[in-house]
Amino acid sequence: MELVKIHGHTYYIPGATNTGVFTTKSGYCVLIDSGINNTVAHKISKVLAEKGLKPRYLLTTHGHADHFGAHNLLKELYPGLEILASPGEKVYMENNLQATTTLYGAVPYDEIKVPLLFARSTAVDITIAPGPLKLLDQHLEAIATPGHTAGHLAFLTPDGVLFSGDAVFDQGILAKYPLPFLLDIKAELATLDVIAGLEIKYLLPAHGQEVITEVDPVLEANRRQIASCLDIIVELLSQPLTREDLLAQVAILEDITMDIPQYFLNLSSLSAFLSYLKDEGRISCSVENGKLYFFAI
Ligand SMILES: [Zn+2]
Repeated sequence: MELVKIHGHTYYIPGATNTGVFTTKSGYCVLIDSGINNTVAHKISKVLAEKGLKPRYLLTTHGHADHFGAHNLLKELYPGLEILASPGEKVYMENNLQATTTLYGAVPYDEIKVPLLFARSTAVDITIAPGPLKLLDQHLEAIATPGHTAGHLAFLTPDGVLFSGDAVFDQGILAKYPLPFLLDIKAELATLDVIAGLEIKYLLPAHGQEVITEVDPVLEANRRQIASCLDIIVELLSQPLTREDLLAQVAILEDITMDIPQYFLNLSSLSAFLSYLKDEGRISCSVENGKLYFFAI
C-alpha cells in the first residue's frame, strides 16, 4: 500500500476500500474510511508512519464493515484518534449485528456473518450532520448522499476532492455487480443529481483504483444501470413472480453467481428496486397461497 496524491493536501491509500487522507502542515491528518479488518489497519498505519503522518480524525462514509472494520485497531494504534459518522450509520457501527439483522430480516445464523457484513462493534466519538466540517482548522464538507445506505455521507476536501464512499460506483464495479447494492433507489437517484451539482475537481469512490476527473459520465453510468435494472425487472414481471424467483431470473439474465451472503445482498437490493417500482405505480403485488407475488401493471 502507498500514499497517492490526488491534489493539494488530499491523498488516498488505494485498497479494496480506498482510504482518503487529508493532510495538514502540522503532520496531523484526517482519514476517510479505513477498511475491512486489522490487517488493513496495520497497512494504513505503516503508510502513514513512512510519511510522518498522524491521524487525528477518522471520517466514516457509512456503516458497512468494509468501511469501518479497521477503525478499532487504528484507534488503538493512535490514542486520541476520534471516529466520526452520521447518526444513521452510528447505529450500524455500534451494534455489529444490525447490518446482518437488517439484511436477513431477523437475527441471522452464523454463516451470514462474514467479514464483509460483520465487523467488531465500533464506538462513534462524534456524530456529524451534513454541512461544513471544520477539522484541524481546515474547512471540509459533509454531504448527505443517501441511497446505498440511509445515513451515507460523502466528504469534500478544500482541494475539491470528493470522497464519495459507495454513493457512486465506477464503471468497473458496475460491470462486476449488475445489480448494484442500494437500499433506496429514489434517494440514490437524487444523490446522483446532488453530486452532479457540486463543484468538484476529483471524485474518488471507495471501490475502484482510478481517481475520476470526468464526473458526469460516471454519474450517467450509475443512472443508466439503475434504469436498466428497473426495465429488466418490469419486463420479467410480465408474469407474476415471487421475489426469490425474480432474483433467480435476474441472476440468469445477468450472469450473477452468489454465495449465501451475496444472495441476501442481492435480494435486499432487488427489494429496493421493487419498492421503487411499486411506489411509482409500475408494479403491484399480492399474496396467493402463502406466496408474495409481484407483477407488472
Ligand atoms: Zn457499502
